[in-house]
Order: sequence, then C-alpha cells, then structure tokens
Amino acid sequence: MGGLSAIQLDGGVDTAAEDLRVNVWFGVFRTCCFERGATRESHQKPCGGNTGLAQPVGSSHVGTVLNRKKVVVLGAGFAGLTFCRSFRHSEADIVLIDRQNHHLFQPLLYQVATAGLSDAEIAQPIRSILSDRPDVQVHMAEILDIDVGRRSVQTSVGEVIYDYLVVGLGGRTSYFGHPEWERHAPGLKSLEDAERIRHGLLMAFERAENATDALERQRLMTVVVVGGGPTGVELAGACAELARVVLRADFRRIDPAQARVILIEGSSRLLGQLPEELGEEARHELERMGVEVRCGVRVRDIRDGEVDLPGETIRAGNILWGAGVAASPLTARLGVPLDRSGRVPVSPDLSVPGHPEVFAIGDLAAVVDKDGQVVPGVSPAAIQEARHVARQLERELDGDPRARRPFDYWDKGTMATIGRSAAVAKVGSLELTGWVAWVAWLFVHLLFLVGFRNRLAVLLQWTYSYFTYRRGARIIAVRSTATQGLVNQKGGG
Ligand SMILES: Cc1cc2nc3c(=O)[nH]c(=O)nc-3n(C[C@H](O)[C@H](O)[C@H](O)COP(=O)(O)OP(=O)(O)OC[C@H]3O[C@@H](n4cnc5c(N)ncnc54)[C@H](O)[C@@H]3O)c2cc1C
Repeated sequence: MGGLSAIQLDGGVDTAAEDLRVNVWFGVFRTCCFERGATRESHQKPCGGNTGLAQPVGSSHVGTVLNRKKVVVLGAGFAGLTFCRSFRHSEADIVLIDRQNHHLFQPLLYQVATAGLSDAEIAQPIRSILSDRPDVQVHMAEILDIDVGRRSVQTSVGEVIYDYLVVGLGGRTSYFGHPEWERHAPGLKSLEDAERIRHGLLMAFERAENATDALERQRLMTVVVVGGGPTGVELAGACAELARVVLRADFRRIDPAQARVILIEGSSRLLGQLPEELGEEARHELERMGVEVRCGVRVRDIRDGEVDLPGETIRAGNILWGAGVAASPLTARLGVPLDRSGRVPVSPDLSVPGHPEVFAIGDLAAVVDKDGQVVPGVSPAAIQEARHVARQLERELDGDPRARRPFDYWDKGTMATIGRSAAVAKVGSLELTGWVAWVAWLFVHLLFLVGFRNRLAVLLQWTYSYFTYRRGARIIAVRSTATQGLVNQKGGG
C-alpha cells in the first residue's frame, strides 16, 4: 500500500465495463452455522444464534442446497466486488459482507471532499450492482473476527461458516503511531471522511467572512495538507482551486483567493512512486496554482488548528491528512506474520500461507507477482487479484489438479491529477504531463465509472465545473442554532 498511487485502470468492477474495456493509445488505463450439508459436520452449529434474524447470515430464503460450497467474501471494495462479479460456479454460492451498503469509487473521494462531486455520484448500492446475481447474498454487517481454525467469521449479525474465504477488507488511514492526530487532521478513506473535510473547508470560509480579527481570518483561510503522494497532491490542488477559482466571487468581506494552501511532504519530493521529473512537474503546477509546497519537512505534532514543524508552528483552519495507510486490523486474525503496514504476505496463488482455502486480495495483501514485481496498493491490482482468485476457484471446483497458479500483475500505468487542467501520468515508458495527461485522467475516470448509473451525472458535473468554474456540491448542513456558535471556533470541523 504505502501511498496510494493514481489510477491505473482495469475496466472497473462491472460486466459492462469489462465488455467495453478499451485499449487506448496509451495502454488500458486505466452455510453457515448454517447448513453446509454433510461437507463438514463440525461446523453445523445451531443457526441464528445471536443474530436476531429470522434466518442466519448466509442462509437463503429459497433454502440451502446440500453440498454446495460456500464462498464467503469480506468487503465489497474493488477486490471483493470484482471477485463476486467474476466468480460463477454451479456448485457454489457466495455470501458477501460489508459494513457499508455501497461500493465506493475511492479515486474520486477527493472531489467529494472539495465540493466537486456529491456522495451519490461516486458510490453505488452493492445490492443494485449484484441484483442480477441470485447466487450472491449480500449482508450489511461489521466483520468482528475471523477464526481460520474453525473456518468461521464473526459479524455484527451473527456467525458465518465458510468453505472458502476471500478477504478484501482494504486499508485504513494510518497516523504513524499518532492516532490522536486523527481528531484534528481527517484522512480520506470513506464518504464520511470526505463529508467531514468538505464541511470543514466550507465552514472555514463562512467563519472567516464573519471573523473580525485579521489573524484569525488568516488562520481560518489556511489549509495544511500532510502527505505528498497522489492523495495529498490531488487534495492540495483541489483546495487551491476551490479557494482561488470557485469561491473567489462569492464573499464580500474576505478574498478567498488570499487563502493559503500548504502541502507538506516528509521525503525530498512529491509523488515518490512516479519518476522524479513527474514529481517536479507536479510541484511546478501546484506552485503555479498558489500552493506552498514544502518537501523534506516532517510533521512533529498536530493539535486543534495547529501543525508543529521543525522550528515553526502553522495555524490553520483545516489540516488534512493524506500521508499514510495501513491494512485492516482484521489481518491480525489470519494467524500469519504481517508486514510493517499490517498486510498479509500471501502465497503466489494469493492464498494465506497454511490456509489454501483463505485468500487475501487488494490493499490488505502484500503481493509479489510471479516475476518478482511488488504489486502496488491500487485498484487495478485489487481487480486483477480478484479475477485471478475467481478463475482459480472455478478450476478447483471443476476438479482441475492444476487449478492453483501464481499471480501475474500487469502494471498499466499511474496518473495523478493536479487541478482543473493539469495532471501527470506514466504508462510504460511514456510520460504525460499538463493538459494531455489531464484529459487522459478524465477519460480514464469516466471509463472506470462505466456501469454506474450516475456516470452521465459525473460527466455533466465536470463539464459544468470546467466551463463555469463552479462546483455543485457546496451545501453546508448544520443545525441553524449551531451556526452562530461555530463562528470563531478553533479548528475546521
Ligand atoms: C483517497 C484515495 C484515492 C485513491 N486514488 C486511487 C487512484 O487514483 N487510482 C488507484 O488505482 N487507486 C487509488 N486508490 C486506492 C484504491 O482505492 C485501493 O487500492 C482500492 O480501493 C483497494 O481495494 P480493496 O477492495 O482492497 O479495498 P477497499 O476498496 O478499501 O474496500 C474494502 C471494503 O471493506 C469494507 N470493510 C472494511 N473493514 C470492514 C469491516 N470490519 N467490516 C465490514 N466491512 C469492512 C469497506 O467498507 C470496503 O467496502 C485511492 C484510495 C484512496 C483512499
């Protein structure tokens, strides 16, 4: 994982996208306690237990057919959802469990955070995506524990027993041993995070308009973004654009164009996973947009509205965290040593060592492919891994003795956008910058959204924003009595 690289698309998670996948000139971017029948008696525990449901998790209202294999999939992100869409076998059923009712297109989260898009434009209900798959049961539940010895998963709505387990629970924001910073510097991983950031950014300008003290006004109009990877670069660029372009004409007492956006990166350069010249290009573009880029600077402490750097404290209305990611803490329950980010070092066939019936895919897996290539924590890798496991399981259920094969990763390129008309991209040996890279970025993201009913809405929204310099998702939802109390409060949230 370690820093999310920009999009390298693989055709998305839905079948329509697979069908429509286009090779463009720069490359393709892009039961349970339940009745498992006689297969394992030890797992035939009383159903229902503490679930409070009429039927246990993973059972079906049409009844459970004996001897069918139960494939339990944890997480409906790029990895889990792609597996469900790709895997089909006449002797198997899938149970998919996620704490959310929607699949989230994380690469566009920063646009929700900076008022470019609204929530519904980058998320889609899991049930609706899988409505054409009667062999897939979806449960909205929190995964609490995994017991690989008993082949069981504990969820907030009960226990599920599996024959095969596909773990795709992704990652979470990591604060490098400072979880207390989370309160003051939100990360960007979920729709809630994006809404929190958007609220903080928009409220800061409202408070600045009301503020009477010049220093406080300046503090409110300062945004610090920590982390110079793709997420930090995209956030910093979008914040600068929001202030200097989108909000510019909307206020009377303040000039939003005077807002400071400061991007802080601990290493010596931006976009460490791209070639140095592309990192330099990103820096140049951000500075042209008015972002203060500080590389080689490590954050010492973050408090409410303050960031401590070596020899300096920056007071800011908003502090945003785009620096670290770690695997789901549930990887610790898989009974194998993890890497530094908590990821599962998987076997070449993507199974968990010692447990051929358990697969770890996506951001929580540490994968080295058959050519020794370290696979990055990006959506195309998650998608390719999911497809690999799906094909493997189908062969295995067909009785193929050579069902298991080493995973081979196809790196299709990396890109990061910087603003309304600039991006950097690397596809094979080809490096793109500026407007051409930005058009490629737009194209790739729309292509990736193929099959989402709101794809057209995103296209229209972007076109509208591009030509009008306006953004649609700028509504602040606060209780009216609270609004006045928020004025002059420290911190952005
Ligand atoms: C801000 C941001 C920008 C990104 N930009 C890009 C980009 O431009 N290009 C690119 O290729 N990649 C990008 N990525 C990375 C990409 O999104 C990930 O590589 C990809 O989402 C990994 O897929 P996954 O299925 O492993 O995990 P996820 O997509 O994170 O899915 C995990 C799923 O598990 C569920 N879950 C987690 N824990 C539990 C639990 N305890 N109980 C129940 N459910 C649970 C979650 O709700 C989620 O649905 C970005 C990521 C972020 C956060």
